[in-house]
Amino acid sequence: MLILFDIDATMVLTSRSGLWAMERAGQELFGPGFAIGDIEFAGRLDTLIIPEIFQRCGVAVTEANLRSYRGLYSLRLGERLADAAVTRTVLPGIAALLAEIDARAQRGEDVTAGLLTGNFESTGRAKLAACGIDHARFAVGAFADDAFYPHGSRDDLPPVAMERYRVRTGRAIEPARTVIIGDSPFDVRCAKVNGCRSLAVATGVHTLEQLRACTPHAPDLALADLADTAAVSRWLFG
Ligand SMILES: [Mg+2]
Repeated sequence: MLILFDIDATMVLTSRSGLWAMERAGQELFGPGFAIGDIEFAGRLDTLIIPEIFQRCGVAVTEANLRSYRGLYSLRLGERLADAAVTRTVLPGIAALLAEIDARAQRGEDVTAGLLTGNFESTGRAKLAACGIDHARFAVGAFADDAFYPHGSRDDLPPVAMERYRVRTGRAIEPARTVIIGDSPFDVRCAKVNGCRSLAVATGVHTLEQLRACTPHAPDLALADLADTAAVSRWLFG
């Protein structure tokens, strides 16, 4: 089994450090008018969000602008995450669930934890590290820049993670034995359109009711959070 975790609002909260760093980097590079406004973040890919912000702020979407912006965003995010005043939260049940996966793997069970996130690899790993989660524990990952730019979406990411699993282990994983855990309708959708199982958690901006009402595919399970490790384990492994 391959269990793919979203990062923001599924495993951790970092006081919206990503948003802060994106706005800060844009203001330094392109002027004080650079503002993120009400652009939707939850479950979306940074590779798609950033050009959208550029367009809204009148910044040309060029390779050069994207490259310098991404570099400064990553730098400012790292500084922000290192600020002791920033609250870093590991969400309920995450530590216990990761420990449970480790214990099962050590007993020889076929279970692997991975990442599936709209962050870039470097910024996603920085957010986890800031919250005390060792990113090396995730054997595989799919990240924002694995989608088919510029018209891709999160739906592109599960096949990338499954292919990396095959390369790493030498064994193919069936979609039905892949679980995607996330807090947004995009996490649910990317699981279901790829034939994977979906576990939705209402620890982000979407309510349990909104997650259960996802269309055209509802999650296989939706929970307020992952605090009940025994129940989550029964559903995952039972
Ligand atoms: Mg999320």
